[in-house]
Amino acid sequence: MSFPQRLIDGYSAFAGGRLQREQDRYRELAEAGQSPQIMVIGCCDSRVSPEVIFDAGPGELFVVRNVANLVPVFQPDGGAHGVSAALEYAVQVLRVKHIVVLGHAQCGGIRAFIDKIEPLSPGDFIGKWMAMFIKPGETVAQRDHETMADFTIRIEKAAVFRSLENLMTFPFIRTLVERGELTLHGAYFGVKEGSLSVLDQATKEFHSAGVGE
Ligand SMILES: [Zn+2]
Repeated sequence: MSFPQRLIDGYSAFAGGRLQREQDRYRELAEAGQSPQIMVIGCCDSRVSPEVIFDAGPGELFVVRNVANLVPVFQPDGGAHGVSAALEYAVQVLRVKHIVVLGHAQCGGIRAFIDKIEPLSPGDFIGKWMAMFIKPGETVAQRDHETMADFTIRIEKAAVFRSLENLMTFPFIRTLVERGELTLHGAYFGVKEGSLSVLDQATKEFHSAGVGE
């Protein structure tokens, strides 16, 4: 199997275009190291690239992507925790000032969770990953008179709330948030319209970012 031609062509376009404009920036970042101010936790979904949505250049965003943009609870056990490792580095070393959890519409991970799909492989990795979304004893169900579409959106947004809640279980995050040195944010991307809503943590509601309308 050859390396995908799409990637060769894409790199060629990058090298002949954007890289030309940003070469100095890449050199500077290589020498001085990265110092992004913002970390984004997003979904793996190919439609919701944070760098594209936020028009970010090299060195601007420290990004972690996983199925359904979930942050696990702080679990200092013997396991290998990818999201926790990224959080540790972003907060303790890079000293990011903001962590943004970016949820999105038509999330396949959330859909799999809602539909309680059968394991896709014997490992049932998605099932186990999504299971952390709910707390023991908690149930997630469609409300009376709630359409499937509204239910799905509610759960997609609930995943953002749960991740924000779980972020606060990390002592090194909680301490900095309480000191006002780190701020946590939620956002939601509407794939169809390319819309961005930002979470107002006081009212627990998402409001349109108010641009591009
Ligand atoms: Zn998703």
